[in-house]
Amino acid sequence: MKRLLGIDLGGTTAKFAILTLEGEIQQKWSIKTDVTNDGKNIIPNIIESILQNLNVYGLSSNDVLGIGMGSPGAVDSKKGTVIGAYNLGWKTMQPVKDQIEAATGLPFFIDNDANVAALGERWKGAGEGEDNVIFVTLGTGVGGGVIVEGNLIHGAGAAGELGHINVDPNGYLCTCGNRGCLETVASATGVVRLALDFSKSDSEESEIKRLVDDGKEVTAKIVFDLAKQGDPLALKVVDQFSIYLGVACANMASILNPESIVIGGGVSAAGEILRENVEKYFLQYAFPPVKTSTKLKLAQLGNDAGVIGAAWLVKANYI
Ligand code: ZN
Repeated sequence: MKRLLGIDLGGTTAKFAILTLEGEIQQKWSIKTDVTNDGKNIIPNIIESILQNLNVYGLSSNDVLGIGMGSPGAVDSKKGTVIGAYNLGWKTMQPVKDQIEAATGLPFFIDNDANVAALGERWKGAGEGEDNVIFVTLGTGVGGGVIVEGNLIHGAGAAGELGHINVDPNGYLCTCGNRGCLETVASATGVVRLALDFSKSDSEESEIKRLVDDGKEVTAKIVFDLAKQGDPLALKVVDQFSIYLGVACANMASILNPESIVIGGGVSAAGEILRENVEKYFLQYAFPPVKTSTKLKLAQLGNDAGVIGAAWLVKANYI
């Protein structure tokens, strides 16, 4: 029986998994990402780790159908190249596919990391079995992947950049140069930004305000934890965050009407309080027929979404 090899390349670690053709993880391991020297050791280290671990698990390249990978940066999935992955040190074009295929003799497929996580959630997670899924990941930034009628969409190259949906034309300045992108208010740093702004203008008693006034660190997790405890300012921050994300979800759903919008990433660890607040505004702003046919769900696969989606990249080429 053939296996799939999935890789989730990130700025601190590269995660690997060997999976069955049905998407069950059989083996998992990870290595540190060496970002020194413009990241030029990253691919050689990945190749070495693949060869070593196939050997450890008694597999030859004949047992593997192919290798899939999710990567940060601008990925050309057709050419198999990555450019501008600054958290890896990759400023110039990296011929990832050529390097890995030459060293392993296995077919290799690559896509953007958020797209790959979307494929994972759609294959084995919250969007399992559905043809139309929008995946939003709320981490340091906001990313996403859009699956329409079973296919991941790339558009003219940059489709699915959900973090740059405009939710406030006069809003905060985004890293992309525009104002009011979803990422400026719905990422981990965006939630903190809202909390800091609210604590400046709000005179109400609040633990968040105390933390800010004492110069203590405020994180997205602290904001959601305090909201769960009923802290008034934390609740206002969560409410404003939910308006922005609810508007974005309603607008996306009006275009694509997916079965599911799946919310993942570190911020989504806040859980049901996040989902139900975003849903409240989604239901307020969405086109009526969309309200009942598009469901908002929390991601289910956590850190495994990347390796599972990467394995799907391989499988998708054989079905
Ligand atoms: Zn932006």
